[in-house]
Amino acid sequence: MRLTTPSAPVDVAALVPELAGQGRTTVRLHPRRGAPAVTESSMGGPLLWPADEAWPYCEASQHADPSGVFGRVAMVPVLQIYARDVPELPFPAATDLCQVLWCPTSHEPDHAPVLHVTWRDSRLVTGVRTEAPEPVESEADYLPLPCVLSPERVREYPSAWTLPESLDERIEDSGWSYQYHLSTAPGTKVGGWVHWIQDPMPMECARGHEMSHLLTVASREHDAESGRAWTPLEEQHLLGPYQVPELQEPADITIGDAGSMFVFVCVTCPDRPVETIVQHS
Ligand SMILES: [Zn+2]
Ligand SMILES: [Zn+2]
Repeated sequence: MRLTTPSAPVDVAALVPELAGQGRTTVRLHPRRGAPAVTESSMGGPLLWPADEAWPYCEASQHADPSGVFGRVAMVPVLQIYARDVPELPFPAATDLCQVLWCPTSHEPDHAPVLHVTWRDSRLVTGVRTEAPEPVESEADYLPLPCVLSPERVREYPSAWTLPESLDERIEDSGWSYQYHLSTAPGTKVGGWVHWIQDPMPMECARGHEMSHLLTVASREHDAESGRAWTPLEEQHLLGPYQVPELQEPADITIGDAGSMFVFVCVTCPDRPVETIVQHS
């Protein structure tokens, strides 16, 4: 199903000259519960994983038992995105599929899952693994329900945290809030601006390159306030004064207190190292 974000309620770039040239395009993935196939882009869906390739496991020391016996936890699928659906991802040469998994338990320092990203050429996958291994430990908050994706490109502006504090005063007559309605798109998305919930954190890879925002995995697509501007047109009639979990929390995950995981990538390093930050609302 095609989902369409309404036009911005206010042309904020016309009201705030500092925003000139700061518009970026993000790809809202619009996950919605469904039954995706391995050949489709998905959130929490089955991965196109070669039958003869090892599955990723988390080997964090916390998974060892108290006597120090080695333990490991099978990672679970979070996102699978084909280049035909979201060509904006920085696919390394000769790859067309981005697969994101995480270890579904809380880890230090963010009390969040450990993330793993694989890039591959889907055309080279002949025998497909039919079942993913079950994690021996998991927290229900980190087990995404299978969702199909409906990628949509939207224009957005930087988080209020990177702009002068006076900004909301300057647009208060509009009846809209910059952070909630006019800046960065909420929800799970690829590229664009980071929807910082607290102070922005500059990210560098181990070799000192500046990293860029790869994607965001969000607990919610929007809340009651941000939903005033970001609820897709096709779903507005379904939203009353109450939350509708299938629309607002389609994957039924909770990262911290309704927070988001921001995933950064180094596009200079050929192996595309990633780092994550979790912020809570
Ligand atoms: Zn782990
Ligand atoms: Zn690098």
